[in-house]
Amino acid sequence: MSNVVCWLNGKIMPAQEACVPVLDHGLLYGDGIFEGIRFYHGRAFRLAQHLSRLYRSASAIRLMIPQDDATLVAAVKNTIVAFGAPAGYLRLVVTRGVGKLGIDPTSCMQPNVFIIADELSMTSERMLYEGARVIVATTRRIAPDALDPRIKSLNYLNHVLARMEATHAGADEAILLNAQGHVAEGTADNVFVVRDGTLLTPPVTDGALEGITRAVILELAAENGIPWAERSLGTYDLYMAEECVLTGTGAELIPVCKVDGRLLGVCPGPVFSQLQTAFRELVEREAVPDRMPGRNAG
Ligand code: PMP
Repeated sequence: MSNVVCWLNGKIMPAQEACVPVLDHGLLYGDGIFEGIRFYHGRAFRLAQHLSRLYRSASAIRLMIPQDDATLVAAVKNTIVAFGAPAGYLRLVVTRGVGKLGIDPTSCMQPNVFIIADELSMTSERMLYEGARVIVATTRRIAPDALDPRIKSLNYLNHVLARMEATHAGADEAILLNAQGHVAEGTADNVFVVRDGTLLTPPVTDGALEGITRAVILELAAENGIPWAERSLGTYDLYMAEECVLTGTGAELIPVCKVDGRLLGVCPGPVFSQLQTAFRELVEREAVPDRMPGRNAG
């Protein structure tokens, strides 16, 4: 089994040895940002998009990431090599750094940057073949005018609470609504439904993260002739869905069989199966290593 490794401010070590100080505002106030990135065949999937979102999150909270893009790309590659397995999951975190007690970040001089490499399985054979059982959480997604959901920050407490509701209800996942009662997203995934053969997902302005997998799914839908639209959705749309699919870096694609005890039309449905196949093919296509010796040599 591969060991969990961590790149911390330029050094790679076993994750158990990687520590950030208790005075780090990332820990004290959730003042920081992160990305979850999968790698397949030793190569980070959609790394450019993840790093671009990371820099956007940083800029939105006026956090200066000490490393430039090329340094982070190299750090990601070295972490994958140190992990040793061809596939896994990276957690790239940038904290505000050590500062004085009190939320004012001006005393925080140096952000801490770390990348953990580990395995991550958010899904199971059962969920893939029979579908996930989902509840609509009573915990609401934080309003965009309070904290824009496009900032992938370390503030995940409402998602944690929603996730606890799911566990308490014996469900696999929870879907959060926004303050207006529109579907926002899952606790760590975006939500899609199929109605009359059209793939629908809420606009990010309804409170969703601009998911990298969400964007991939919309790309694949267009390529595969599946009509799609961004549209506000309510619980009724979830209950009446022909299909419902959750997507995310950790989740990849998960079909949903039940929402709040209501059985959906079909699970796994034809649109899920088509997108799942297209996603796996895309991952294989994009995971071709940079240099494969003799690849073009015939
Ligand atoms: N929403 C939330 C709240 C998430 O944490 C995630 C996982 N990063 C997603 C959606 C899915 O986004 P992505 O496809 O970029 O992983």
